[in-house]
Amino acid sequence: MRRVLKHILITAGPTREYLDPVRYLSNNSTGEMGYQLAREAKRRGMKVTLISGPVTLPVPEGVQFVAVVSAADLLTACRRHFSRCDALVMNAAVCDFRPPRRGKHKLKRSGKLTITLEKTPDILAGLARKKGKRQVIGFCLETEDWLMRAHEKCRSKGLDGIIANRLTPAHSPFGKRRVQMALVDQKGNQRVLKQAAKAQIARHILNWMETLGQQKAVQK
Ligand code: C5P
Repeated sequence: MRRVLKHILITAGPTREYLDPVRYLSNNSTGEMGYQLAREAKRRGMKVTLISGPVTLPVPEGVQFVAVVSAADLLTACRRHFSRCDALVMNAAVCDFRPPRRGKHKLKRSGKLTITLEKTPDILAGLARKKGKRQVIGFCLETEDWLMRAHEKCRSKGLDGIIANRLTPAHSPFGKRRVQMALVDQKGNQRVLKQAAKAQIARHILNWMETLGQQKAVQK
């Protein structure tokens, strides 16, 4: 069958939101899933642009690589590269909140510190509004009602599909361990994958994206 996805844009890893020159807010993302997706897409002959927050993984061979730190950097990089791709996979764990500014000097340890955080822009929802013919896929991580919330996010962010992850005392999605994910599309279909290594999950995700792409091409 003819390949519909030729150039894929993948974001991966956490963002860091600095409070001062050395301290930041971030999360546990290791970038493993996004880097496996980049490797698999490259193996399939796609052109791959990988935008990544700070992680310790080696850059997969043959991909166009863009390093970012904060949600603001990620937004700028995504805006720059989105128009040239035909599919976006937003795997980055974007911090939802950030300090309003990065202090020039280290915060002093005196008394109590209260910081009011501001919301970061929803990069994915913003890009999805301008997607045109592009396929836009998100990721989500939930601690409760993972499938229901995934359907809700797919709809509210205007996505073609979303990959649901869950964090429970018995199941953590971080790092190199085997994990269970679910593929949810905009029509309300869902497929819960068997627990597997992320390299295997990357193959499922790209097969699914190819199928969604072909369905979209037929509808046009
Ligand atoms: O945090 P949330 O569950 O809304 O994340 C769902 C999707 O939205 C993810 O693909 C994430 O990369 C994206 N996102 C974003 N900008 C944010 C927060 C999340 O693009 N500020």
